[in-house]
Amino acid sequence: MNIQKCVILFFLVFVSFSFAGELYFIDNENIQRYNGRSGKWIEVNTVKQIKTLANQFGITVEDVYRINNIKEKQFKRSFVFFSYSDTYIQQLMEKGISLQPLSVSYDAFIWPIGDPEKISSGLGRRWGRFHPGVDIPAPKGTMVRAAMEGKVIYAGYFGNYGNSIVLEHRDNYVTRYAHNSVLLVKVGDYVQKGQAIAFVGSTGRSTGNHLHFEIRCADIPLNPLDLLPEKSLIIMKNPK
Ligand SMILES: [Zn+2]
Repeated sequence: MNIQKCVILFFLVFVSFSFAGELYFIDNENIQRYNGRSGKWIEVNTVKQIKTLANQFGITVEDVYRINNIKEKQFKRSFVFFSYSDTYIQQLMEKGISLQPLSVSYDAFIWPIGDPEKISSGLGRRWGRFHPGVDIPAPKGTMVRAAMEGKVIYAGYFGNYGNSIVLEHRDNYVTRYAHNSVLLVKVGDYVQKGQAIAFVGSTGRSTGNHLHFEIRCADIPLNPLDLLPEKSLIIMKNPK
């Protein structure tokens, strides 16, 4: 075992015992997370490509279909999540890809909307494209709160996102809050966790009042449902 691996292993063990939360491996290009698995989102055109990629990552085609809730016969071009086998992850490490273990404690984030009951769209494939966050329906004017303390790095209208806010946090985390009716903070402001930053609306590309919420680390969209405190929510399936 080389030194690099030792360091990684030591760090993993250390971090695992230090935090109650989950451990994420983040590498800008190589590893992403979805439904508690490490892998990667890839835009795929054909069923044949799915087979080739599944083979490459050491998983079965059935796994790919199950994780993504895809039916082979109905498959059309879209983003597909390929989880990595342990062997493939090991190979990545042997290639010297520097995985940054990143600890996530479950109390790091709070829900940006007080008491949500449902998620109308989850992170993942939607309408054949990749939806990088969760949609939380709420009446217009509902208060949107900072999910973690941080600095406002964007506050304004931004294309499909409408009136949106982007906060920069510690450890390379960024959160985004989109489709708001009113923004309450400006670029450069520092906000506390739980501080009101906007009111829910339906600006930008939106079909009704809701908050589109993203958590990214090193610009990789993570599944907010993996990181936010657990709630018994009704989670609606993303339309294919
Ligand atoms: Zn959305």
